[in-house]
Amino acid sequence: MTDTSSPSGLSRRSLLAGLAAAPIISASAEQSVAQTAGPSWTPQQTKDALKDAKGTKLVLLGTAAGPVPGRSRAMTSHVMLSNGAAYVLDCGLGVTDRFANTGIPFSALRSIFITHHHFDHNVEYGPLLSIGWVQGMPLSVRSFGPPPLKQMTDDFMRAYKQTVDFWAEDFHMKPLTKVEVKEISGAGPVMQDDNVKVSSILVEHPPVKPALAYRFDFKDRSIAFSGDTAPLEAVAKMAKGADVLVHETMYVPAVEKYIKGQIALGRPVKFEAFMAHMNADHTPVEDVGRIAAEAGVKTLVLSHLTPAIDSITDDTWRAPAAKYFKGEIIVGKDLMVV
Ligand SMILES: [Zn+2]
Ligand SMILES: [Zn+2]
Repeated sequence: MTDTSSPSGLSRRSLLAGLAAAPIISASAEQSVAQTAGPSWTPQQTKDALKDAKGTKLVLLGTAAGPVPGRSRAMTSHVMLSNGAAYVLDCGLGVTDRFANTGIPFSALRSIFITHHHFDHNVEYGPLLSIGWVQGMPLSVRSFGPPPLKQMTDDFMRAYKQTVDFWAEDFHMKPLTKVEVKEISGAGPVMQDDNVKVSSILVEHPPVKPALAYRFDFKDRSIAFSGDTAPLEAVAKMAKGADVLVHETMYVPAVEKYIKGQIALGRPVKFEAFMAHMNADHTPVEDVGRIAAEAGVKTLVLSHLTPAIDSITDDTWRAPAAKYFKGEIIVGKDLMVV
């Protein structure tokens, strides 16, 4: 190949622009939705599952990787509901709508956690706070995540102060002026309240530093999240003995097919450089299976799906992980209750 672009010419921007085009490569994506179990639960299914729920529940709000709008799967976000309190992890585009779809009242929202500062994890953080406030979110809500989360929160509040003030005056509400933020820069305890103990570790997601994985130990259930990371021993260690591990997942053959298609269309990207970049930042599904086995978790949830193309069947996602992990494997769907 005579492509003269350098590996360093491969930017995250080109990658993301590419992922945006991915559904076009799969021309039959829409038809294939019917063949799979679909990328999403209906809000009614979610509400029904939560209504009958006993103990702590996890709802996958958005299960797609990358800041790409217009897909059937939303960008990454989750909510855990325990003892009537809601804990949100990551705020990709769609988090507010999906949260509302669960039927969990905004008054239940207690804490928000961010794994790292990529748009598909943080872009709707501010809007969740403001719409949440309009809808009854307590002013005591707290946020946790890597620096500069404090600055980002303050800047957002400043940007929307006038809008908040108009609304507060109109509806006689106490204005949302400030949110308490604790910045998390490394491994260790994050917070503890009457429901849950939360801890974090550092993961590998260059050039993002710090990028975090979190573990939530509720009284009845522990749930670990890899965040975005290359395969990492530390994630298996963190998730040791957890009930649920939600791990980011990349299906390499589909990523390869996609980038080959892009190169054929004349995109100035080198195949090897592109895949090296993906492998430095994300975890192939086989490795996700290995990590889950090593951690000895009960349930593995494949999420943050790369590429988030609906025509990839659940069996295709599951099989490479199942070679190594013999517990329950769930292919993440938006609004699914775990
Ligand atoms: Zn991501
Ligand atoms: Zn990321």
